[in-house]
Amino acid sequence: MTERLVVVGSLNMDLSVTVPRLPAPGETVSGADVIRGAGGKGANQAVAAARLGARVRMVGLLGDDAFGSELRSCLATEGVDDRAVAELPGAASGLALIVVQHDGENTITLSPGANHHLDTATLATLTDGLLAAPTDTVLLQLEVPLPTVLAAARTARAAGALTVLNAAPRPEPGPLLAELLREVDVLVVNETEATGLLGIQHRPGADTGLETWAERAEQLRALGPATVVITLGALGALAAGPLHRHHQPGFPVHAVDTVGAGDAFCAQLSIALGAGVALPQALRRACAAGARAATRVGAQSSLPTRAEVDALLA
Ligand code: ADP
Repeated sequence: MTERLVVVGSLNMDLSVTVPRLPAPGETVSGADVIRGAGGKGANQAVAAARLGARVRMVGLLGDDAFGSELRSCLATEGVDDRAVAELPGAASGLALIVVQHDGENTITLSPGANHHLDTATLATLTDGLLAAPTDTVLLQLEVPLPTVLAAARTARAAGALTVLNAAPRPEPGPLLAELLREVDVLVVNETEATGLLGIQHRPGADTGLETWAERAEQLRALGPATVVITLGALGALAAGPLHRHHQPGFPVHAVDTVGAGDAFCAQLSIALGAGVALPQALRRACAAGARAATRVGAQSSLPTRAEVDALLA
């Protein structure tokens, strides 16, 4: 039986404008033409998985606006099953307003729109109470309400599916999050998210050794997930599971933009683990997918195909 990846998460339209310098409060600055791109961590990971060859079902909410129609057709073009994606009457689609200065410095204003209306009742309705089959893998992020993510994890686990949580964006620790961590099989976090979950200060650029990250992975395992994966940018990723402790060095690529790298990584890792691939091999494939995404600009536009990942692994 073919395994399926079910992604419950966000769909956003990203609008980016490049400017000579970021405007100060109250100031107007003219920039280049607007660039429109489909985004949202949920949709990015669903599209990533489809390009990597998986059978993918997306569960989420759009607004009943023009952006919503465009976002739906992006899913359809990529072959993602969008039957559990609905338009919420009167709501706006999720929208990210991104202003980028020439040196890459940027500001992002996020309007979650319909994504924030994905409550537990809507989740049950969209999936007819059947989120996943035992052979499925369910991939979750934190851009839809936390109670919904928790309900999805519980439903998936009750069905016997493998549950993967990419705890991004960086969450605020709390009782609901603690409960969620006890309901997932695999946790994927970057350095900022890992330290955030452990309630410790992370200084970006700090020279933290692999030993320390390995200890942190074990500390995160103690919070619930049997397997914890920490992504380390160009340094690759580190995994700790019941059978394996493994560091996979990053693939040497010419990185131009790491947007989308984490999403490609999560999608590939979930597909491989769902197919029964052992953790070290799944980690290697996921790092190749992340590295390949870093060689191209953009979110969904940078996501690699299965053939591209195979080429990097050859
Ligand atoms: P996020 O974007 O979520 O912070 P990372 O930057 O850690 O995630 O990237 C996710 C994965 O993508 C990494 O674990 C790594 O395998 C790959 N990756 C990211 N940046 C690079 C890079 N510059 N060179 C090689 N691989 C990279």
